[in-house]
Amino acid sequence: MDRRLSAMWHRRAQRSLVGGVNSPVRSFAAVETLPVFASRAKGPYLHDVDGNQYIDYLMSWGALLLGHASDAILQAVTEAAGRGTSYGLSTETETHFAEFITTAIPSIERLRLVSSGTEAVMSAVRLARGFTGRSKIIKFGGCYHGHSDGLLVKAGSGLATFGMPASSGVPSSFAAETLLAAYNDLDSVETLVKKWGNHIAAILVEPVAGNMGVVPPRKGFLEGLRKTCDRIGALLIFDEVITGFRVAWGGVQEYFGVRADLTALGKVIGGGLPLAAFGGRADVMEKLAPCGNVYQAGTLSGNPLAVSAGLAALDAIRKRDPYAELERRGQRLEEGLLNAAQQNGIPVHVNRVGSMLTLFFTDEPVVNRATSQRVNARRYAAFFRSMLDGGVLLPPSPWEAWFISATHGETEIVQTIDCASDAIGSAGNTHND
Ligand code: PMP
Repeated sequence: MDRRLSAMWHRRAQRSLVGGVNSPVRSFAAVETLPVFASRAKGPYLHDVDGNQYIDYLMSWGALLLGHASDAILQAVTEAAGRGTSYGLSTETETHFAEFITTAIPSIERLRLVSSGTEAVMSAVRLARGFTGRSKIIKFGGCYHGHSDGLLVKAGSGLATFGMPASSGVPSSFAAETLLAAYNDLDSVETLVKKWGNHIAAILVEPVAGNMGVVPPRKGFLEGLRKTCDRIGALLIFDEVITGFRVAWGGVQEYFGVRADLTALGKVIGGGLPLAAFGGRADVMEKLAPCGNVYQAGTLSGNPLAVSAGLAALDAIRKRDPYAELERRGQRLEEGLLNAAQQNGIPVHVNRVGSMLTLFFTDEPVVNRATSQRVNARRYAAFFRSMLDGGVLLPPSPWEAWFISATHGETEIVQTIDCASDAIGSAGNTHND
């Protein structure tokens, strides 16, 4: 497949944009190839600047549950733009939108709109600290919560009690407020709780992890976190930036029946525009300015184009109720990938919750960061490149979720499985060095 124009634009972009990208993973470094430059997209298909067409499983990193350029969203954004692009004042649309969310996720009694998942989680953490008067939070290795200072922390070593910053520029004193536990391991939480109990403001978790590849919570894990928070007077924060309106209308909280005190949302709720939110218990949320003394604000928060897109997305999702269909498509893709791997004698595991899944090149179940780090990353990179050449765009990293949209039909799934049957064979010749 010819991608000469993408290559040319990449060279040119590097002269003005850092690394030629506006978000690191777009560089395709993890899959050892040049990045694709997108030109347009519709439904499950994305076109690059060279005119190649791909079945897209990136779906703007999970933002597009209804597929690319859904008619309802286009119409809503166009109409909203005609009325003005930003006012910096309250609008009726924001309240309609907020009502959708409070109805869908009952633990969210009040919410605040922001523009990115990073802002949503960062603000929820500040609020939890303000509400409890405590400073430490527990996060889990392998979970990503945006790039705010204290959350850019992952397990440095098995012995680390305090978080080690995963980025230069994060003072270790900030990272020290973040305590690291292992995903799916309540004992690791208990060890931290024994030591820091009444200093812990919140436990923050991706209730289905999506950022070490998809890793579902073990039975009892989320319930255990809920109980621990209640016991020590900390807040439970679910980062549902990926899972909100993705795994079910009511997110993971509906899917697994565990209630959070605070929830961060993003991606799907914006219908592809910059929109995110955090919300939860009214008594906690009302600590936020102007009701309380925890400060948070934003010039473009509740931007009318973004909120109109989000409202149109949620309205269309509610009417269509795509979740059973997404589950069937997900199941079909999962089975197809497992069969393809088996026929080629390649060890893989597929983790899937509804329409989010990851194919891991590994012979052990992936249940946490340690097991996800042991996958054969070079094999995934080879697989990714073959799939791309076959017209299927996957996330350009072995540690990301693939997203199925409501526009991925039987045709696209079958084509993807056919392509994977060939690609897995060629990936099998790769070794992890
Ligand atoms: N939380 C989770 C679970 C995410 O997956 C992401 C982004 N992938 C974020 C937070 C940050 O969101 P954003 O990129 O919109 O800042």
